[in-house]
Amino acid sequence: MARYRGPVCRLCRREGTRLYLKGERCFSPKCGIERRAYPPGEHAQSRSRRRTSDYGLQLREKQKMRRIYGILERQFRRYFAEAERRPGITGQILLQLLERRLDNVVWRMGLAASRAQARMLIGHGHFTVNGKRVSIPSYLVKVGDKVGVREKSRRLAPIVAAAEKAGGRRVPSWLQVEGDAMEATVVSLPTREEIDTQVEEELVVQFYSR
Ligand code: SF4
Repeated sequence: MARYRGPVCRLCRREGTRLYLKGERCFSPKCGIERRAYPPGEHAQSRSRRRTSDYGLQLREKQKMRRIYGILERQFRRYFAEAERRPGITGQILLQLLERRLDNVVWRMGLAASRAQARMLIGHGHFTVNGKRVSIPSYLVKVGDKVGVREKSRRLAPIVAAAEKAGGRRVPSWLQVEGDAMEATVVSLPTREEIDTQVEEELVVQFYSR
């Protein structure tokens, strides 16, 4: 399971916006982008003063989307190729594919502090889909799937803590939470209106269509 292992606040600083990669800690005054509101790297500040080209804008949007969902370039390209193959608006299908990843679903359900933590918990086998243990964070859920925490893992500290903190967070309408909020059913595929990710997907499509 390849993933980025460097400092995550650096990614936010590079994109010039909060990507909320550290869960609750992103709301503290220690947020990296609050403390150092300039891009990382020796010459980045002088470079950032230059006018950004169309290509630059598209590249930044693509990187932003990739980093929000925690996906490396090669896999992200595969998602794009898959989105292009499917009928519909490519940018929206791409976002829909990313939203359907199991790590994103677990985070959306409020059972992990961040997508990165969801990925780790899934990798350790704490979640099930339709009653079967699934340890693949990129698993794509489909309509009718029931995602839940394994019986043995329901009292696991990070899951309980995330669930308590997420109490007030709104679960998207394409997921129907059941019982003690440790289970949810995928009632529909997410539409663009139901995805609150702040990205301009058209720029990502333009980037790969060059
Ligand atoms: Fe980004 Fe701030 Fe969270 Fe660091 S703490 S990951 S800079 S939002």
